Amino acid sequence: MTANLLDYDLEGLAAFCERLGEKRFRATQLFRWIHQKGASGFDQMSDLAKSLRDKLRDSAVIQPLPVLSQHESADGTIKWLFDVGDGNAVESVFIPETDRGTLCVSSQAGCAVGCRFCSTGHQGFSRNLTTGEIVAQLWFTEHFLRKHLGREDRVISNVVMMGMGEPLQNYSALVPALRVMLDDHGYGLSRRRVTVSTSGVVPMIDRLAQDCPVALAVSLHAPTDELRNQLVPLNQKYPLSELLAACQRYLQHAPRDFITFEYCMLDGVNDTPEHARQLVQLVREHRVPCKFNLIPFNPFPASGLTRSCNDIVEAFAAVLTAAGFVTTVRRTRGDDIDAACGQLAGDVRDRTRAGERMSLRRIMLKPASDTIPQET
Ligand code: SF4
Repeated sequence: MTANLLDYDLEGLAAFCERLGEKRFRATQLFRWIHQKGASGFDQMSDLAKSLRDKLRDSAVIQPLPVLSQHESADGTIKWLFDVGDGNAVESVFIPETDRGTLCVSSQAGCAVGCRFCSTGHQGFSRNLTTGEIVAQLWFTEHFLRKHLGREDRVISNVVMMGMGEPLQNYSALVPALRVMLDDHGYGLSRRRVTVSTSGVVPMIDRLAQDCPVALAVSLHAPTDELRNQLVPLNQKYPLSELLAACQRYLQHAPRDFITFEYCMLDGVNDTPEHARQLVQLVREHRVPCKFNLIPFNPFPASGLTRSCNDIVEAFAAVLTAAGFVTTVRRTRGDDIDAACGQLAGDVRDRTRAGERMSLRRIMLKPASDTIPQET
């Protein structure tokens, strides 16, 4: 069977090389060619013996995800839609800022959690992405952006697993993908700059702490179980007391000394000063050092919800700040291309299933390998 080398972290690639009868250290060379230089074929790997390149050509591929569309926002945000087969597509979003470049990566096609305010959740769940499909999003975008921006150094400095899907419900594919991101022979990202965002899969938070402790963000969205049960159905399985206890345990292993709590501001639902006071009480009770990130809701018709107005958001933030918590209000980025949080792939499935895929703006019809540098 042909192996997709994007499926492997360095350890996995070393085992693959051994199966080919090669020394394990060959994996490091191969890994660097793939991830640091963006190689998409074996012929360009000039420092590998021809015999090895021949073996690789017979047994392996570096499999990109076909790009269905690319949209660039007026604010520089770029959104890609990738085809993952069977009418499914996932999105990645690049958010440039002065001091960093962040890529938001998807982990599943659709999502089974079904948060009420989330467009992806309303689509339902299609399938888990493979490690290779998660890594391919970073592999393609990093090398595309280097070429696009005429840069030889790293463009993407931060990765957030906040695209489509609940990453901790795709744990076995997620962890090797994180290792590729962190590996010095891969993308060399710091553990502080790779964030897994979860709606609260408690047992997997504990496993992540052991296996690959990166920064953790938790989608909280409500200060009480009663309200959170309505907004994040997973709360019925893992209520707030268990979730916050898991956050506290995670901090013993985390690269940062706080958890980021994401809180989507929903008009008249979870956005009063009383909710903010309950939130303060909740995190104090459980002694979880944290920061809050307030997210303006991005409305979509099926949700029946609306965005809290700015005054309400500011009043909510003021309560948290007065209690001593660092609180940020997320700027919406890429609004004009539906790349803002909670909008990802809002219409993809419907459109692809209706056979309208061709109507999507297809900027890159060539294979992705044609768009990345052969050697840097
Ligand atoms: S917010 Fe995250 S966990 Fe909830 S439905 Fe959307 S993608 Fe899934």
